[in-house]
Amino acid sequence: MAIQQLDFAIIGAGFSGIGAAIKIQEAGFKNFKVFEKTKGISGTWYDNDYPGAACDVPSHLYCYSFAPNPDWSRIYSPQSEIRSYVEAVVDQNNLRSHLQFETEIVSAEFNEQTALWTLKTAKNEKFLARFVVWSVSFLGTPAIPSFTGLDNFQGKVFHTARWDRSVDLSGKNVVIIGSAASALQIGPVIAPKVKSLTMFQRTANYVMPRGDRDYSGFEKWLFRQFPFFNRLLRSWLNARQDKFFFRAMKPGSWVNTIIRKRSLNYLKQKIKDPVLRKKLTANIDVGCKRILISDDFYDMFCRDNVNLQTDGIAEFGADYIETKAGERIKADVVVMATGFLATEFMPGVNMTGANGASLAKWRDDLRALKGLMVPDFPNTFFLLGPNTGLGHSSMILMIESQLKYLVDVVTGLKSGVTVAPKSDAVARYNKQLQLELSEMVWSTSCQSWYKRADGYIPTMWPRTTAAYQTMMSEVDWSELEVSGDK
Ligand code: NAP
Repeated sequence: MAIQQLDFAIIGAGFSGIGAAIKIQEAGFKNFKVFEKTKGISGTWYDNDYPGAACDVPSHLYCYSFAPNPDWSRIYSPQSEIRSYVEAVVDQNNLRSHLQFETEIVSAEFNEQTALWTLKTAKNEKFLARFVVWSVSFLGTPAIPSFTGLDNFQGKVFHTARWDRSVDLSGKNVVIIGSAASALQIGPVIAPKVKSLTMFQRTANYVMPRGDRDYSGFEKWLFRQFPFFNRLLRSWLNARQDKFFFRAMKPGSWVNTIIRKRSLNYLKQKIKDPVLRKKLTANIDVGCKRILISDDFYDMFCRDNVNLQTDGIAEFGADYIETKAGERIKADVVVMATGFLATEFMPGVNMTGANGASLAKWRDDLRALKGLMVPDFPNTFFLLGPNTGLGHSSMILMIESQLKYLVDVVTGLKSGVTVAPKSDAVARYNKQLQLELSEMVWSTSCQSWYKRADGYIPTMWPRTTAAYQTMMSEVDWSELEVSGDK
């Protein structure tokens, strides 16, 4: 059977993949597919359906600028609402027929003669594509630490991004390993129904009040009737994140200091027990790990059935976890809130580009041009690729800047012509980026998913989202290698 040939293969149906499909379609392309390995749309928001999952960026900023939603129910919408939003956007743009679910792309090989990519799925199906758009999250592969004795544990174990809905937590002894963004959302929701909840905390984080609330009927009416208010709110949120919260990403800045004081005051106000408060007091630079926001995390520890454990895990037994201090914590269910393999880009994919380039080799390097294109991977775009992560604002802003650049590049090329960044342009760009990153808070001593064990930071963007938008607003063709006449 002939192999289907596509203009575009988009891999991943999250915010970036769906955004790419919309923009490519708007640019006049019809022959494209979105391959999604799960059974549903919305990527991160499909995977992370744990109890309490919600966005920690305000919803009016955490949505496409070209698909505003006047009906967000709250300032920080829950996961189910974000997922429904992406579904609705897919329908509004008639994308269903382009989606292929339960299709994991496991390899991609570039043919220098035909200038086409051959993609292979886990089920051994093949597709040819002129352009490949990888839209896979760097927070997509769960990190499961290899604890001693884990295999002997007889209870249920699952990761936050693979929540097992068949397990009823009522009356169970539940342990959550980890105390960061995911754990802090789950704990307060499950605590009232479980018999006991023990949270293993390795590093205390800075927690700020979330200040969440429902939007009133009047507010939603206003957003619906007068889209100007919708746009005004988005612009205000955008400016607040870039002009105020971005400053917190600089060590020693006044905003950084304010956040430290505010979060320590919040802790003092909520936790009266001095021993517990000491355990929950962060001892790291503000922002070097994600600053957390919650209205109910600290209240959770005031419940009799909740215990904060800071002694560290020695080993798992059949129905318990033993701490390094020798205490045995009874466990029926263990939730791994242990994060993701963020710096191991696209594990499970084999990719061979031009001139012998491979993804395996590039993973050791993780440098891209503008977080999007990599030398010797022609006609390939890595949405939310290296150094596009933010500690202060909405990733949707970064995605939209990348999509504009991508469309400008592909519509600027004749058929059959390929494009990839020049190695010297990539080296220059990344040298400057690393220089700027060395002055950001992620470079301080604490270890986080933002950086590799050797200290190299392949994940974060060191400027504002507005600066990224400006950089991506025009294609500098001198940085790109084009295989023929444009
Ligand atoms: P994370 O930030 O990487 O946190 C992992 C937690 O597990 C940390 O508390 C970590 O402790 C602990 N941990 C890891 N390995 C451990 C081990 N071997 N033993 C004991 N503890 C261990 O992961 P996450 O909470 O899933 O969040 C990841 C990112 O996802 C966030 O930073 C955020 O960007 C995103 N997220 C966003 C939202 C949202 O609302 N938008 C919600 C959830 C997640 P240490 O700190 O000591 O390493």
